[in-house]
Amino acid sequence: MSVSSINPANEEVIETFTPHTEVEVDAALAKAEEHYSNWRLTTFDERAKLMNKAAEVLESHVDDWGPAMSREMGKPLAQAQGELKKCAWVCRHYAENAETYLKDEPIKTDASKAFVRHLPIGPVLAVMPWNFPYWQVFRFAAPALMAGNVGLLKHASNVWRSALNIEDVFKEAGFPEGCFQTLLIGSDKVEKVVRDRRVRAATLTGSGPAGASVASIAGDEIKPTVLELGGTDAFIVMPSADLDAAVDTAIDARTQNNGQSCIAAKRFFVHGDIYDEFRDKFVEGMKALKVGDPLADGTNIGPLAMKSIRDDLAEQVDKSVAAGARALLDQPDLPEKGWWYAPQILEEAPENAPAAKDEMFGPVASLWKVTSLTQAIERANDSPFGLGSSVCTTDKGEMEQAIRDLDAGSTFINSKVASDPRLPFGGVKASGYGRELSSDGIRAFINRKTVSIA
Ligand code: NAP
Repeated sequence: MSVSSINPANEEVIETFTPHTEVEVDAALAKAEEHYSNWRLTTFDERAKLMNKAAEVLESHVDDWGPAMSREMGKPLAQAQGELKKCAWVCRHYAENAETYLKDEPIKTDASKAFVRHLPIGPVLAVMPWNFPYWQVFRFAAPALMAGNVGLLKHASNVWRSALNIEDVFKEAGFPEGCFQTLLIGSDKVEKVVRDRRVRAATLTGSGPAGASVASIAGDEIKPTVLELGGTDAFIVMPSADLDAAVDTAIDARTQNNGQSCIAAKRFFVHGDIYDEFRDKFVEGMKALKVGDPLADGTNIGPLAMKSIRDDLAEQVDKSVAAGARALLDQPDLPEKGWWYAPQILEEAPENAPAAKDEMFGPVASLWKVTSLTQAIERANDSPFGLGSSVCTTDKGEMEQAIRDLDAGSTFINSKVASDPRLPFGGVKASGYGRELSSDGIRAFINRKTVSIA
């Protein structure tokens, strides 16, 4: 059965793809295994030359792949182009730093010499989501290839043009065939690939159920996994914060990528002393955002990527309001065609409402008044997720308390949570395990071989 990319702004089919057959997938795995045996022997310099070239290829396609990405999944054009440039950054980051990140670690023992050497492990499967269709893949692929592994991509079924373009980046850059291959397969075909002897590890960025499924299959095969899953990140504002800056950051943090980001701030806890002022400015700012054609200049929010996402979000809002949350913004008239949802703020959702406990994947913020940082942190931690967290304060003691007590993979002070090639990225609890990016990311799929020379 063919698979189509559908433009979420107008529901038109952009392109239709034929999934790979079992024979084609098997050939790709054979190619991965065969080429890995050569690739693992290349030097860091050789890999770095190609990875720097991949960065150039990405930059050369900003003006054609940027609009294509916006059409495929709805993000505003400037953000799509920014994403391609960020992918070039991560390629250059690992081209420059991989060798240092993976250098031998000497250890003093009774032997004449002992050390840890970091060796690649082989073909790694990456199961990736559509929301940052290039970035999610490159933050896996750049370190994996620089480490000497080879990559296999199973991308989300609504962004197969992006998936094929990514394979082309590595071809155009001159990587040997088999270093990075896209498998056009549905999620029902993932199990067989994970179980295949030639695949040595898997990483998945996506929802909890998908992560649990891939990790349990990999566990059954004794293969390592990294999981980057969902989040309902808290954003805490204390009286000492620069209020206007906090409001601007809050709006950006909630609505980046049309609100469809794992690390978007989703639950806002604001101290009572500044609550009313923050809320009024937050409402004004969210109301001012322009919803519309993601390719048009000045658009802040495009359509949500899929009908099911828009419908699920609308249902979560309706249920939260029915449970007692106050909706602070009216939904404007939006085009009939396309999967639109305008920004919304839900105030004081009760603890059993979707706005309080579930991930909301769209431009909807949940807002509560708190009496202290301790209360804000307790509420923030009262979630199955633990991806990122933000705190706006200028009080050093409050910063320390937040860093110590927020149960999340990161705490950003006076800024939104953002991924950066130099910083480890990942979550705790239902947000997953393992870390991507920085030295952690390149060591995710490595044999830390102990060497002892008597
Ligand atoms: P999803 O449905 O889990 O899809 C993600 C990927 O997993 C897709 O390639 C999908 O393929 C595949 N998949 C789905 N079910 C699977 C299964 N049972 N077995 C194997 N593969 C399966 O997630 P999504 O709705 O597209 O993405 C949004 C979620 O990703 C949100 O929860 C978001 O927070 C999370 N996310 C996390 C991070 C992070 O770094 N922590 C980053 C971005 C997004 P098909 O498309 O073919 O179904």
